[in-house]
Amino acid sequence: MNFVNLKTGKEKPVRLHHPWIFSGAIARAGGNPEPGEIVAINDAGGAFLAWGYYNPQSQIALRLLEWQQSAPVDENWWRRKIGDAIHRRNHLFQRDDTDSFRLVHAEADFLPGLIVDKYADFVVLQSQTAGIDRVKQVVVDTLIETLKPAGIYERGDQTARRLEGLSHANGLLSGETAPDLLEIKENGLRFLVNLRHGQKTGYYLDQRQNRQRVASFAKNRTMLDAFSYSGSFGLYGRIAGATSIICIDSSPTSLDLLKKNFGINSYQVVEDELVHGDVFQVLRKFHEEGRAFDLIVLDPPKLAPTKAQAGQAQRAYKDLNLSAMKLLSPAGILATFSCSSGITIEGFQQIVAWAALDAGREVQIMERLSQGEDHPVRLAFPESQYLKGLICRII
Ligand code: SAH
Repeated sequence: MNFVNLKTGKEKPVRLHHPWIFSGAIARAGGNPEPGEIVAINDAGGAFLAWGYYNPQSQIALRLLEWQQSAPVDENWWRRKIGDAIHRRNHLFQRDDTDSFRLVHAEADFLPGLIVDKYADFVVLQSQTAGIDRVKQVVVDTLIETLKPAGIYERGDQTARRLEGLSHANGLLSGETAPDLLEIKENGLRFLVNLRHGQKTGYYLDQRQNRQRVASFAKNRTMLDAFSYSGSFGLYGRIAGATSIICIDSSPTSLDLLKKNFGINSYQVVEDELVHGDVFQVLRKFHEEGRAFDLIVLDPPKLAPTKAQAGQAQRAYKDLNLSAMKLLSPAGILATFSCSSGITIEGFQQIVAWAALDAGREVQIMERLSQGEDHPVRLAFPESQYLKGLICRII
């Protein structure tokens, strides 16, 4: 049997059910396990702690799966855990107004390295690790049996895969090809999603609940949606009664998709509502032109993918929030987000406080936001809280 013995004292996080063990905590591996193979994880004295999969090529050398010695991780184990994750979302399947949401949220759903998203009748999976690559067919078979999807796509998270020493993975795994732009439903609105080339697995499902919260502040306000991607925040705001909307994104493909998304919801976008450019520069230019808005959404991409990049990212977040505050009318609303797991909610709040100080404005936090319920945060794995948001009034 393959096993890994930890160094003395390194078993504590395992007992707390944290799912990661870094390579530095390993004393020795026995049985010559291949990347991604299941191993028994023992303490320094050789006593069993947990089952997990091992990848000597990754800094996160072990991902823990099961703490009961009598429940080895075989094909049935994987089928059961995937079934459980889907089962926990039964209430979402019953909704008439939403047909797209996350089914498996990796470590936070007790399936490290595996993401599964449902988009209408299609499913997109992301394998981030060698351990998941080894059981990909079991995952696909279980999804077919449980959901009978029209098709299953794989979308590689290339950054995560590179860290595991894995190559590119993309394409149709089963069933039929999806339309180039697949129509999905979210809170009663219609969105077009490109499953093959869209960002992430095609769409930012994690902001579903936050879009409604932000839209509740839009009525009779002029709105700016910065980092708009396919236009969701802007469209929700427009429908909720924003008097005008400007959307900014650096990707022309995203702005094209945004136009289509507004269109299929019966809102025609005019050219000067769309700004193709770098948000950092555009906000500064708007300020120089003396423009002002009553509601600004800042939803930038991950500026700090790891803790190591947090310092540099803090400056970028501060710069963005400062520029936005300068553009907000008195008592204007700022909905500001960070999806960097390297930045905590307290850290993010501090950044917004620094921006307020420089802008000479007072700030009231009205709501603290997180990722949607289908992207749960696992208490034993604080890293799974990656999306943080604040809805603030800027006095
Ligand atoms: N708010 C969107 C998701 C935003 S994702 C939603 O609710 O769906 C981040 C977006 O920022 C991407 O569309 C990306 O193209 C864009 N982007 C990244 N860097 C940018 C920059 N410096 N200026 C403008 N847009 C940028």
